[in-house]
Amino acid sequence: MNNYPISSQLFERAKQVIPGGVNSPVRAFRGVGGTPLFIKSAKGCFLHDADGREYIDYVGSWGPMILGHAHPEIIAAIQEVATHGTSFGAPTELEIELAEEVIRAYPSIEKLRLTSSGTEATMSALRVARGFTGRAKIVKFEGCYHGHGDSLLVKAGSGVATLGLPDSPGVLPEVASNTITVPFNDVPALEAVFDQAGAEIAAVIIEPVVGNMGCVPPQEGYLQAVRDITAKHGTVLIFDEVMTGFRVAFGGAQERYGITPDMTTLGKIIGGGLPVGAFGGKREIMDCVAPVGPVYQAGTLSGNPLAVTAGLTQLRLLRNPEIYAHLERVTKKLVAGFTEAASEAGVSTVSNRVGSMCTAFFTAEPVIDWTTAAKSDREAFGRFFHAMLEEGVYLAPSQFEAAFVSYAHTDEIIERTIAAARKAFAKV
Ligand SMILES: *Cc1c(COP(=O)(O)O)cnc(C)c1O
Repeated sequence: MNNYPISSQLFERAKQVIPGGVNSPVRAFRGVGGTPLFIKSAKGCFLHDADGREYIDYVGSWGPMILGHAHPEIIAAIQEVATHGTSFGAPTELEIELAEEVIRAYPSIEKLRLTSSGTEATMSALRVARGFTGRAKIVKFEGCYHGHGDSLLVKAGSGVATLGLPDSPGVLPEVASNTITVPFNDVPALEAVFDQAGAEIAAVIIEPVVGNMGCVPPQEGYLQAVRDITAKHGTVLIFDEVMTGFRVAFGGAQERYGITPDMTTLGKIIGGGLPVGAFGGKREIMDCVAPVGPVYQAGTLSGNPLAVTAGLTQLRLLRNPEIYAHLERVTKKLVAGFTEAASEAGVSTVSNRVGSMCTAFFTAEPVIDWTTAAKSDREAFGRFFHAMLEEGVYLAPSQFEAAFVSYAHTDEIIERTIAAARKAFAKV
């Protein structure tokens, strides 16, 4: 039986011309089996697939769609700006406005540069940190994903973990050898690395709330310890807020936890569903970037007017604190409902949540890092995922992803989702 005949046909056709039929591996359903849905349209919290089925969406394009899909004001703004031309390769006032909007919300950022993806933002931030410090090594955390840049594709969480590729061929050992990985939420492990090599470490890059091994919050005092250790050794602390920026609070994890990094990378939400990334930080660091300084970084379509307009419109709408209060409240309700449904069905789950990011791990013990996340029962998750799909709920097709709730998810939608989960847990 195949409920998705048109998606299946499209998938077969796509595989002829696109590796694995997808333009980003996590879309391929490898972690759960089956055929990825081909999407025709989306509106609010709903997705519509090629077979004409409707789903409540908890992927939100992997984070950007915090106001829901096809928000009328964002669509209107893109349409209007498009009539004036789609790209100039010269500066525009819109780029200043987006930079000013971000800087107002992130006091740690004094200057920023726009890119077209989160990957470019993190790659560039690392280059700048290395240029600024004159040091070679970087530290990242097991299970954190920072895009697919060479030096960051080491123990890199969801996509890689789901595919079972510990490292990617094509990443040279001499590049990867400058990347040190330590477990998340483990202060002594980080201290040990700094005791040994502190003077060689250019940067520590961290997801302050991890989203890419599923949602894993920092333990009490952890981010402060990371801040203290890096400050002591003159190492640049980079908060990769590509996912958490404007998500866990308007001012990101740095606002929520009150920690000031030296540099920040952004993406996802700041593009409003179009391709935008950004890296920024202290003036003295950002003044290393060309043309002011010697560290080269560039992009033909960086600051693209359509993308910047979508992002700017979304950020201005997000200034309303009522949105974050709603997200907090309904996501809490969703997690409580899932936990109750799982225990009624006798399925062990542990749920983590920060703001409108959450993950139900199919495991019995607390999930605090990659080792504990990896103990989850992926097969049980796969059965749950497909049962939810049958019930009209679209979750991320991997145990190691966060679910994203949007402002378009009403109480009634959350209740429908919990009712679906009750049926799905019974089939696990
Ligand atoms: C998604 C993500 C990236 C990569 O962004 P792309 O736009 O996919 O290149 C980097 N860091 C984090 C934390 C992310 O969640």
